[in-house]
Amino acid sequence: MPTAPRAGGAAAAPPSAETDRPSALLVPSAALGWLAEALTDAGLTVHETDGWRSRARPGDFAPVGVLLHHTGLAASPEAPAPSLAALRGEGPDTASPGPRCHVLVDRNAECWVVAAGRADHAGRARASGPVPEGDANVLYVGLEIEYAATAADPTQYATSAQKSVAVLAAARIVGALGGDHTFVRAHKETSTTGRTDPFNWDMVSIRDSIRQTLERTGW
Ligand SMILES: [Zn+2]
Repeated sequence: MPTAPRAGGAAAAPPSAETDRPSALLVPSAALGWLAEALTDAGLTVHETDGWRSRARPGDFAPVGVLLHHTGLAASPEAPAPSLAALRGEGPDTASPGPRCHVLVDRNAECWVVAAGRADHAGRARASGPVPEGDANVLYVGLEIEYAATAADPTQYATSAQKSVAVLAAARIVGALGGDHTFVRAHKETSTTGRTDPFNWDMVSIRDSIRQTLERTGW
């Protein structure tokens, strides 16, 4: 049974009884209706995919943190978001019905808002930083960064622009959730199945950049 932290809490709440859950958290489509506006306010280029406000997997969604991933697909400035259809749950390569993230940062460092509700991006989570172990799809907002770092193109890493945008997006989102930089985690830090994404990211440095961003902006 996943733990049930309160959304918006400054710290992860201890596990609580099912009856303690605010009923609003059981309405997935209402969860992150502020997402596109918040990212726009952060100065980012934002594309809203059709239907994102009502896109969700069934089940609970009460995020306290942000989880960073990379997509594992080679991208280019001309084809900057090859994962987008699959992340929405469309196309022939879909491994799950989707959505499979909340926001994609494409190869041109532009944001695509994919879903407002629960997304299938991370399975079970180990405890990481202040976030308890549990169902990662309850606990985290999923932020995907489009780069390969796989057999298809092992040397394609995130650009500095993609990292800068990921830092801003994660800071804005985690601030809106009521958390601080410590609530931004990498899939490689929570995975129980050996995931290594986002590959080649130093999370100590990433979190320090998020801390500085939160201090500067007051998010
Ligand atoms: Zn991942």
